[in-house]
Amino acid sequence: MATLDCLKKALKQKIESIAPPLKKPLTDLQYDAGFDLVTQGNRTSYQDFIIPQLSQTLASLLETRTDVSVLEIGPGPKSVLGYLPEQLRQKIRKYTALEPNDIFAERLEAYLPLPSLEHPPVIHRAAFGLKDETHSPCGGRAGWKAEQWDLVLFCHSMYGMKPQHKYIERALEMVRDSPEGGMVVVFHRQNNLRTDGLVCNTTASFPTGSVSVPDDDKILDCFATFISGVSVPEGTTVSAWREVCRTLGRREEAHLFFAAPEVMATFTRHATKLPELTAQVPVSNETSKIKNRQARLHEPAAVMRPTEILHVQQCVLWALEHKTSLTIVGGGHSGQCLWPGVVAVDMSAFDQIQIVASGEDEETSDAHASALVVVGTGCKTGDIVEKIMAAGLAVPMGSRPSVGAGLWLQGSIGHLARLHGLTSDSIVGAVVVSTLGEIICIGRVPEQARPAAAVHPDNEDEFLWALKGAGTNFGIVISVVFRTVAAPTYTIRNWVAPLQDFVEARDKFSKLELVAKKLQRHVSVDAYMFWDTDNLRLGVSMCEVPTPHDRETLSPDYADLCKFMGQEETSKVVNGVELFDTEMYMSVMHGGHGGGKTSAFKRCIFLKHIGSPGIVDILVAAMGTRPSPKCYFHLLHGGGAIGDVADVSTTFGCRDWEYACVITGVWSREQDGTEIADAAVQWVYKVAMDLLPISQGAYCADLGPSPRDAALAAEAFGPNKSRLARLKHSSDPENVLAYACPIPRTIAAPNLIVLVTGESCAGKDCSAERWAHTFCTNNLSARVVSVSERTKWGYAEAEGADMTRLLQDRPYKERHRPALTKYYRNQLQQTPHFPEEHFQQLVADAIGIDVLLVTGMRDNAPVVLFSHLAPGSRVIEVRVLASREVRLDRGASHATHGSTSDVDVERESAACPTFLFSNEVPGGEAANTFATTHLMPFFHEDLQRLASMMRTVPNFPSPGIDFRDVLDIVQQPDGLRLCTSLLQAHFAGDIAKADCIAACEVGGLVFASALAQQVDVPLKVLRKAFEGSRIEIDKFAITERATSVVIVDDTLATGTTLCAVLNLLVDSGVDVKAMSVIVVAEFPAHRGRELLRQEGFGGVRVQSLLVFGGA
Ligand SMILES: Cc1cc2nc3c(=O)[nH]c(=O)nc-3n(C[C@H](O)[C@H](O)[C@H](O)COP(=O)(O)OP(=O)(O)OC[C@H]3O[C@@H](n4cnc5c(N)ncnc54)[C@H](O)[C@@H]3O)c2cc1C
Repeated sequence: MATLDCLKKALKQKIESIAPPLKKPLTDLQYDAGFDLVTQGNRTSYQDFIIPQLSQTLASLLETRTDVSVLEIGPGPKSVLGYLPEQLRQKIRKYTALEPNDIFAERLEAYLPLPSLEHPPVIHRAAFGLKDETHSPCGGRAGWKAEQWDLVLFCHSMYGMKPQHKYIERALEMVRDSPEGGMVVVFHRQNNLRTDGLVCNTTASFPTGSVSVPDDDKILDCFATFISGVSVPEGTTVSAWREVCRTLGRREEAHLFFAAPEVMATFTRHATKLPELTAQVPVSNETSKIKNRQARLHEPAAVMRPTEILHVQQCVLWALEHKTSLTIVGGGHSGQCLWPGVVAVDMSAFDQIQIVASGEDEETSDAHASALVVVGTGCKTGDIVEKIMAAGLAVPMGSRPSVGAGLWLQGSIGHLARLHGLTSDSIVGAVVVSTLGEIICIGRVPEQARPAAAVHPDNEDEFLWALKGAGTNFGIVISVVFRTVAAPTYTIRNWVAPLQDFVEARDKFSKLELVAKKLQRHVSVDAYMFWDTDNLRLGVSMCEVPTPHDRETLSPDYADLCKFMGQEETSKVVNGVELFDTEMYMSVMHGGHGGGKTSAFKRCIFLKHIGSPGIVDILVAAMGTRPSPKCYFHLLHGGGAIGDVADVSTTFGCRDWEYACVITGVWSREQDGTEIADAAVQWVYKVAMDLLPISQGAYCADLGPSPRDAALAAEAFGPNKSRLARLKHSSDPENVLAYACPIPRTIAAPNLIVLVTGESCAGKDCSAERWAHTFCTNNLSARVVSVSERTKWGYAEAEGADMTRLLQDRPYKERHRPALTKYYRNQLQQTPHFPEEHFQQLVADAIGIDVLLVTGMRDNAPVVLFSHLAPGSRVIEVRVLASREVRLDRGASHATHGSTSDVDVERESAACPTFLFSNEVPGGEAANTFATTHLMPFFHEDLQRLASMMRTVPNFPSPGIDFRDVLDIVQQPDGLRLCTSLLQAHFAGDIAKADCIAACEVGGLVFASALAQQVDVPLKVLRKAFEGSRIEIDKFAITERATSVVIVDDTLATGTTLCAVLNLLVDSGVDVKAMSVIVVAEFPAHRGRELLRQEGFGGVRVQSLLVFGGA
């Protein structure tokens, strides 16, 4: 699919080859017809990008003012502001537009849905000019004088304004200076916006934008005229243009599609402040040295080349003062090191490599400790390998010599990884300029490498943890300290064999997996799948790092490989430097990818069983759809030392995999920027998305702010995501490093909310504290709050009671209980929604915490009452039980021994808690075991994997609703098996002992039948009746004596179907007490549990594997 820009170029070339184009602009009519077509065909860009981005921008402006004024430049017939949510439109008090097209201006005057304007909108029929007064299209003065606005908006109206930066500067003169200053917002086609040294405040991109147009002669004539911008005499048609459109567009359902990637850039009065920085820090003009060709298409505001740490500090302080972000250039291999309109900091001057022999470092008195190497982040991998190899040393590094610090800070998998771990695992210290401009020293930094002004931050351990896998996000790293190992030699053997079909591919990959599993750590086997001379091929590269004792021996697995790969093609013994050129993609595949002949785009997914048919079939099928001949998969062998490190010990949180599959889209250099290059990038993402649901995670290397990376970034840090989010929030509060691998900045509501209920003195607080401790030891953050504390404060204040004693002195609290209960009842009468409001406040205060444990809850059926108020969180109830004697022993008074809360008890109806916890025995062992076996499983990665198998369809079935289809799970490789095993594992009790499993067609039946087969329990089917919305069951299907009937359903939303099922089972004689329910996905916003309670099923235990906010 060609881009609109390619189409424009081709249309212009075509007309020039036929006749000289007319040198006059399009008529208003031509413009109107074309504009209408393009906006009609560009809906997704508006819905998914422009409107959400603009809403966010307006909302951020409204943080510092109560209303805004807008100047819109060239809005066309309808202002985009009309599509914003009503609460934002209401905040617009003043609106002016400059619209030179008479037809558009007329329509705009007739319809502008801005309900709160103080004066009627002012629409000048004039173009925006560079001088104070603009001119109307017919030459006369438009009578318009520049004023001051909060927001000046160019929504696709900068075409024809050249040079663009002058127009933006002009608009900036018109934005308000105070209170916080206004903003110029530009939406434009990506790669076409030239800001020439203006600094963007924020930018966002929408690379998947497209425009569609009906494939109809007349419509194409109008579309081509508008896109080319070339005027032809009225009534003339250039039929050759239709052919151009049809050749370049992708045809789908009688429409032609063209790629139209979009960008949004915002500018504030700080946009012109670059000279303040260039006066202090050297500037580099060498962007051509940046390795990544896509990054070179991003025109940065400037590239600074600091030569001392002070310069780096000046860059950060300048960015903070002017509320902008920075990108960092290490080896320049990623697409993120340069970003349009953003200042880049090129670290190439920090290129020192210093070896610190063991014993020289004052912190290591141990003579056997390994030597350290201190490496400036301007160094390239090849320089480091070469220099330290000369001293007999090595650091496990990646495989390309020109790659820089981005690699070491984000993991890096090389040939020593199975033996010594990732490059980031070898980091022991670093010197960093923090995003607040401080020089900080982290971990072990030898004295000679420590800058005089460096300080150790309070959260030093946390910083070191973060550097080892997500190190591009928390500061500008000046140097990194690695521990070293002895420099090895490498024996490399390469095999290449054809893969005739899926069957042969499955066979060879499963054999390879078997061999790989048996290998010792000093041997690895990488695999390549590529297409060469009309054949799909499997390449295998065995790398052996012999220890001094077995230098001459051949790996015993060599023979196993030869059995199915034949004799090896090449075999070499090389050192660390020679190894770079021995890689199969450099030396064997397609005649080698070196020498600057090709460009590539990669994303990487971690896989466990490369021999499983699900994975092999995706890879083989994807090779069949590769858009250019040299695209390939490189499967890097993992396991070994990579898995020795716990996934929470460093930020590189995905460790349980055997192969890292690097999906590589390759095209020739001449095709840079063409649709072939675009197609290769799209292919990489498509394969990554196909593999993601059956993967062990994604590699964070080179992920950036593009929305296409979001799903991968979400899987990149394993269980470390929320801890990282908190650190990012606190250590980079101004988002100075906004374009590194995305870490969520909006910290989510608690993942799990545990409502701890139980009788007075059963030990709720104490149990909750112990569970919180278990979460924390598993690296999750947890907070215990008492819901009754607020009431107690109010009571203490009103009645003059002693709050400290109310909290800590049990007999004192028991004495006050009746009065406290009365106080609470009064509170409830005055503010009937007090409990709900209070619960919501507790949840809001716990943003960023993984688990919120709420004790002191007085309400019965609290999950029913509160779960819809925190729809993005899983809300469960754990009831703590202790015998009467034990509770009396713990201080419960005789009068209140039946009380379930600190304040009072009110039993509204029978309700079944999610879990019961028996807290009879003193000591914490039982609580710890309970947390490990019942609560921790909610954080198991398999649940996250299951959740990732459900696609989100935005705005379906109606705008504003994000639809999730549970049946997506069964359509994913391994989805049904995973889901049924989770249903069995999460069911509270032994599902295999149930009398039967019951399910209603259609959704529930899919999961129930697989589960019934798995646990060997009879399945009973409730059918949809032929007519109407009734359901039916064979009246003899379930015996009345059934003591355990498990109802399995796909979703719990409104609860209507589930209620019907339960009612029908009751009608067939099943006792309510015998029933329990487990669903795959619950959507608490719809309050299904409330309906169940109203229908008398409050006592039925209902469990859900996944919980989602929204529909
Ligand atoms: C999917 C994938 C897998 C890869 N796997 C491997 C592999 O196994 N082996 C291998 O050799 N190569 C691999 N690469 C290539 C390469 O390692 C990465 O592209 C790497 O991130 C490039 O680092 P760089 O410094 O050269 O690039 P840059 O573009 O300069 O930097 C990359 C990122 O690091 C940040 N950064 C750079 N320097 C600093 C600093 N001093 N302080 C803070 N942040 C900084 C940048 O801001 C940028 O976000 C892979 C690439 C991809 C996309």
